Amino acid sequence: MAEYQTHEFDVLVVGAGGAGLRAAIEASAAGVKVGVVTKSLLGKAHTVMAEGGMAAAMGNVDERDNWRVHFADTMRGGQYLNNWRMAELHAKEAPARVNELEAWGAMFDRTKDGRILQRNFGGHRYPRLAHVGDRTGLEMIRTLQDHGIHHGIEFHMECTLLTLLKDGNRCVGGFGYDRERGRFRLFHAKAVVLATGGIGRAYQITSNSWEYTGDGLSMAYHAGAALMDMEFVQFHPTGMIWPPSVKGLLVTEGVRGEGGVLRNSEGKRFLFDDIPENYRSSTADNEDEGWRYTQGDKSARRPPELLTRDHVARCIRREVKAGRGSPHGGVFLDISWIKEKLPNAAEHIKKKLPSMYQQFKQLADIDITKEPMEIGPTTHYMMGGIMVDADSQMSSVPGLFAAGECGAGLHGANRLGGNSLSDLLVFGKRAGEFAAKYAQENSAGPIDMAQVDEAARKALEPFDRGAAGENPFTVQSELQETMQELVGIVRREDEMRRALEVIAALKARAAKAGITGNREYNNGWHTALDLDNLLTVSEIVALAGLERRESRGGHFRDDYPDKDPKFGEFNIRIDKAADGRPKVTHVPVRPMPDELKQVIEENK
Ligand SMILES: Cc1cc2nc3c(=O)[nH]c(=O)nc-3n(C[C@H](O)[C@H](O)[C@H](O)COP(=O)(O)OP(=O)(O)OC[C@H]3O[C@@H](n4cnc5c(N)ncnc54)[C@H](O)[C@@H]3O)c2cc1C
Repeated sequence: MAEYQTHEFDVLVVGAGGAGLRAAIEASAAGVKVGVVTKSLLGKAHTVMAEGGMAAAMGNVDERDNWRVHFADTMRGGQYLNNWRMAELHAKEAPARVNELEAWGAMFDRTKDGRILQRNFGGHRYPRLAHVGDRTGLEMIRTLQDHGIHHGIEFHMECTLLTLLKDGNRCVGGFGYDRERGRFRLFHAKAVVLATGGIGRAYQITSNSWEYTGDGLSMAYHAGAALMDMEFVQFHPTGMIWPPSVKGLLVTEGVRGEGGVLRNSEGKRFLFDDIPENYRSSTADNEDEGWRYTQGDKSARRPPELLTRDHVARCIRREVKAGRGSPHGGVFLDISWIKEKLPNAAEHIKKKLPSMYQQFKQLADIDITKEPMEIGPTTHYMMGGIMVDADSQMSSVPGLFAAGECGAGLHGANRLGGNSLSDLLVFGKRAGEFAAKYAQENSAGPIDMAQVDEAARKALEPFDRGAAGENPFTVQSELQETMQELVGIVRREDEMRRALEVIAALKARAAKAGITGNREYNNGWHTALDLDNLLTVSEIVALAGLERRESRGGHFRDDYPDKDPKFGEFNIRIDKAADGRPKVTHVPVRPMPDELKQVIEENK
């Protein structure tokens, strides 16, 4: 039997983004021994890219805001498939989490009277996003790291977890390798928190970082945890589309929050033509009202550019298909027009959107203070993920918790911008708290070395096949193309069935992936190991997409273009069945308490 470098923890946190760091801080504050493993360097997790801000009903800019409005906005945005208990906890607890982050040193932008400034974002009735210019994720990560460092948390950077280890039904740790030297690591823990983020790298055009290969979802699924809402992938309406090297890079919704407008090639603000019925009463019906809203006029309603992301993305696609797109296949996003309204517009834009200004100047040679940007939809966020208990964040596997983008429930069919960063804080904290409690109440379970040896053997197989094996990069890129074309922003039964056939063939090829070189920083090896995760989650997205025969939120079916009330009564759950294949079931939406129903009614 091989020997492996072994680490013992009470709580093992997988991921050092906002959710992982917040969970680690909370668990460690409870007095247990905490370890964090992260695929990238500390400070580089995907959260660092977050731009626009974190949603919390603090009412600093508009005193009419409170948890009830935030709850109702989140549920409406998620088309009522959200776990209402999570939406309730999130709306109630987010302000405290943001204030806590400030107390730990986060330097938020300020109102004139010194409170945390809040900005407008799509689907939020009032200005609600606490932010630091358009670099909010960076400040969140910096603050959590600074705070966490004093908690004695043990960090294992550039270390990839390959599999979870089980003792019977319970999770007792994980097995992985360090990316630098390629050596295996065994992590023995009483509780494990997955905070591994999303799956965007299953698609060709994405705003997501290289880490987003769906590892946490796939590991949890193979370990017996249920996945939920996997058909709901968010395509953000505004990604860069030109030059090709930066296709997919995000253009923050903050641009529209600051007054940016969307126009087609005829110069028309096309979103005014298509306002969904359930948002009509809260949406401006003329351009002047929309502008006044972005400037803080409380009597004005939001411009249609700030409708939910699923809707805006589909309207953009429609304009392009109708031949009214921009030269490179998107539409125009213009913030420079505000010079008609503000004397110091250029300075204002640079101050409010410094990263966007730099991003377009350096990557596309566009000065956004003078000319419009060309944008189009990009794969951005996974609403679905590991099914968890709302209060504790424990999955259906005892001892296994999940928080952040890899968890499911809060966002339902569509996430509102800004609701992710606050999700990380609220449910990261809860996952850390309950994982620590679980670790305190349970002794460490035994490690089954046969599971570990099998994982090590499997991981090294690509070396045995060498150059004669399948090229992992080719398999990965064919998968990304398939998902983009066949399970993308608009879906159809025949296309998703075709995608499933391609995925099955790619699975067979991935099982024969071969690589050359040695184990040190071998990118081919890393890609070969990621493939199983990408293929697992892609298959599940397509299966869930087939099952939902209606259009709702992030899931749009060309063959079922309308919402069907029948499908509003359940979430789609997928488990690994005894025969190793995915099993699809329906989970009825739990009845909402009357008090929360009342809150939704009040805020219609
Ligand atoms: C450009 C951009 C801008 C955004 N702006 C906003 C915004 O303004 N507001 C908002 O609310 N949301 C925003 N989002 C979404 C938000 O940033 C993410 O949903 C959120 O940061 C996810 O955080 P997380 O903690 O769940 O995961 P992450 O921050 O992605 O962290 C995942 C961690 O898991 C690690 N990991 C993954 N797999 C493994 C493995 N196998 N082994 C070990 N470690 C692993 C990674 O290395 C990383 O440390 C934005 C997203 C993008 C791409």
